[in-house]
Amino acid sequence: MRINAIRPTFAIFKDKMSMESNKLLIYNSLLKKKEVFEPMHAPHVGMYVCGPTVYGDAHLGHARPAITFDLLFRYLTHLGYKVRYVRNITDVGHLEHDADEGEDKIAKKARLESVEPMEIVQYYTTRYHHNMEQLNVLPPSIEPHASGHIMEQQAFIERILQAGYAYESNGSVYFDLRKYARDFDYGKLSGHVIEEQLNNTRALDGQDEKRFPLDFALWKKAAPEHIMHWPSRWSEGFPGWHLECSVMSTRYLGEAFDIHGGGMDLMFPHHECEIAQSTAALGHESVRYWMHNNMITIDGQKMGKSLGNFITLNEFFSGEHPKLQRAYSPMTIRFFILQAHYRSTVDFTNEALQASEKGLQRLLAGIRMLDRLQPSATSTADVSQLQARCYEAMNDDLNSPMVIAHLFDGLRIINLVHDGKATLSGDDLAQLRQTYHTFAFDILGLKDEETGSSHQTLINDLISYILEIRQNAKQQKDYATSDQIRDRLQTLGVELKDRKDGTDWNLKV
Ligand SMILES: [Zn+2]
Repeated sequence: MRINAIRPTFAIFKDKMSMESNKLLIYNSLLKKKEVFEPMHAPHVGMYVCGPTVYGDAHLGHARPAITFDLLFRYLTHLGYKVRYVRNITDVGHLEHDADEGEDKIAKKARLESVEPMEIVQYYTTRYHHNMEQLNVLPPSIEPHASGHIMEQQAFIERILQAGYAYESNGSVYFDLRKYARDFDYGKLSGHVIEEQLNNTRALDGQDEKRFPLDFALWKKAAPEHIMHWPSRWSEGFPGWHLECSVMSTRYLGEAFDIHGGGMDLMFPHHECEIAQSTAALGHESVRYWMHNNMITIDGQKMGKSLGNFITLNEFFSGEHPKLQRAYSPMTIRFFILQAHYRSTVDFTNEALQASEKGLQRLLAGIRMLDRLQPSATSTADVSQLQARCYEAMNDDLNSPMVIAHLFDGLRIINLVHDGKATLSGDDLAQLRQTYHTFAFDILGLKDEETGSSHQTLINDLISYILEIRQNAKQQKDYATSDQIRDRLQTLGVELKDRKDGTDWNLKV
């Protein structure tokens, strides 16, 4: 197994914002306003994000929450917080149309392809991880599977039953929404009102098991043809879809934690039901800050698997889809998503993606140029504001488009210095480099695909430096050192080829 997910080591630099002096504002969907982020147990931060239901390839709509919360994870880590980031894998209980009746999405796919449900889960989870790695999305700290927490889900149902907010009916257990709504504020996140929903609810098969049409399943008795089921004291069955997130967030982050994230489409019913379950079981709410990313639209409609209008990430990377004029690289997709604020909608068009691609190339070319600039004795350009402006933008509810705009502004200075029309002192040049590397690579999570990665740039620089030392040795006729360097590099897989005016190198692997 390849371990590709290397946690970036974030440079600590002298005027870096620390978590104490930093005032990060985040928009709390529950209160519908921006609030200063104050974790319950600083420097520790607990963060839970709803992950994918693994029955198909990830599409552009999946990339958005993954990148949004990766940006938050990276920024909090950069500020010095120790973040425990939990993102689940839904591998059971998510029924068609997100309802309480119908076939399990994974079991259906397994039936259609004549394989075990867990083969479907494994196959798409692996592909999801690969796509995330391509997008440079860091893996979460814990990635729990719903099917691995059946016991905990049953214990949670018992707590809700004991508290009196659930009832058993014909081997299934349902959440008693009317009772809950009498005692607590149901609908506080999404603004849904029970009476309104009643008017919009059609009668569903099997609804007679419920006391009230909007009650939702915590445990479902499995029909004979249902292949994913576990024993319980109620029936041979499976947990309801909403339950896993209440259970796994409590299991790994405690009965109260800092951040819960997900796409806006999950606000209702999923997150509303999560709040109800956790509040019923624990007696109090568990989440301090709710964060939701907006949707990606295509031809003005939400891109979604259930709507059938989605383009998978693999299709973007290969260009093989009728709606795509050509292929787009993972970093173009990442940059395209970061160019919009996470709470705004993003409309997919080929033109927009091509503009993002150009913008990204311009930014990366600027950083490459910056890395080659030579310092002067004094500075004639002021670079002191850029870093502070980037922090200000990030602190304003992760305003990534504003950070990108500031980084574009700074390219002007880089070009002037490059053209000999301005100078930068060693300190200023170092600070400018740090600002670009920190914000573009560490925080926005971009990679220079042209040179492979930011690590590749470092490798190139290190080898150039070693060759410089070897060249000096040769000039001083210290052939022993020069040969030693050549031989040592050779054993490390770096082949040197001396020319009249320099040395070329190649990696053997
Ligand atoms: Zn969830």
